[in-house]
Amino acid sequence: MRKVAGIDLGGTMIKMGIVDEKDGIIDKIEFETKLDLGFEGVVKRMVEMLEELITRNAVEISAVGIGSPGSIDHENGVIRFSPNFPGWENVPLKAEFERLSSFQVFVENDANSAVLGEKWFGAGKNKEHIVLLTLGTGIGGGVISHNILIKGHDGIGAELGHTVVEPNGPLCGCGNYGCLEAIASGSAMVRFANEGRRKFPNSKIFQLEKDRGVLGAKEIFDAFRENDPLATRIIERFIDAMSTAIANFIHIFNPQIVILGGGISRGSDVFFDELKKRVEMKVMPSFVSTYELVVSPLLNDAGILGASAVALEALK
Ligand SMILES: [Zn+2]
Repeated sequence: MRKVAGIDLGGTMIKMGIVDEKDGIIDKIEFETKLDLGFEGVVKRMVEMLEELITRNAVEISAVGIGSPGSIDHENGVIRFSPNFPGWENVPLKAEFERLSSFQVFVENDANSAVLGEKWFGAGKNKEHIVLLTLGTGIGGGVISHNILIKGHDGIGAELGHTVVEPNGPLCGCGNYGCLEAIASGSAMVRFANEGRRKFPNSKIFQLEKDRGVLGAKEIFDAFRENDPLATRIIERFIDAMSTAIANFIHIFNPQIVILGGGISRGSDVFFDELKKRVEMKVMPSFVSTYELVVSPLLNDAGILGASAVALEALK
């Protein structure tokens, strides 16, 4: 069976794995990105790490797939810009990696990689119509329709996180108001918690923050489990925004499956049943029960598997 390397390039960490197209991950490593090395330095280190990984497993690989956040020119393998890599502008990732190694390299945006990963290894296997939402600090989207990854004219389409769900809602990082990302992302939920600090000073959220020294989506979910009023407001708004957006995507793409991935999907036990119910209420009668709504089974390996799927898809 064909083997490829998958590299999940992040602003803080790089996850890298050797992946068999049938059996999944054979071996993997994780290391700091060290942005202070500069673009060339980071690529050089990635190549060295990959060569080490290949040697230690005594395998041959057919290609390298890289999933990167930001705006990607996937044809030329160039990172146009990314908030995760300050100072990297129009950096030729594919060209530099290929110059330093003997591998063929394919680069794709991380959300697009993620949906390809679901198709090759996850909940989207044997499906031709897939919508994926990655719920993390932000909200990414990936769409496969009629077995084709939807990229759009400039390769920047499927920005599902910037679907407007509350036209008069909060300001989004993109400059618009009321995007899904401005309401249902991890950073939005934390912002809502902080905004509620004066009105709900005794919220369980802030007790957990004090105990754990951190305030993230997990603290909000844990407070919600104990019926905390502020957490309940935030999760209610999350479910409302998510169900509106997902119903829209179902109407547009008529998918077989809608997959929720990313860190926040791991807290899905607190919202999943209600979200499912709400989506089903919001879709038109002809769409009722035409789709599955699931949480990604790929967990921590989603990034590596997604990146390797980019290579596998390109070699197809
Ligand atoms: Zn936005």
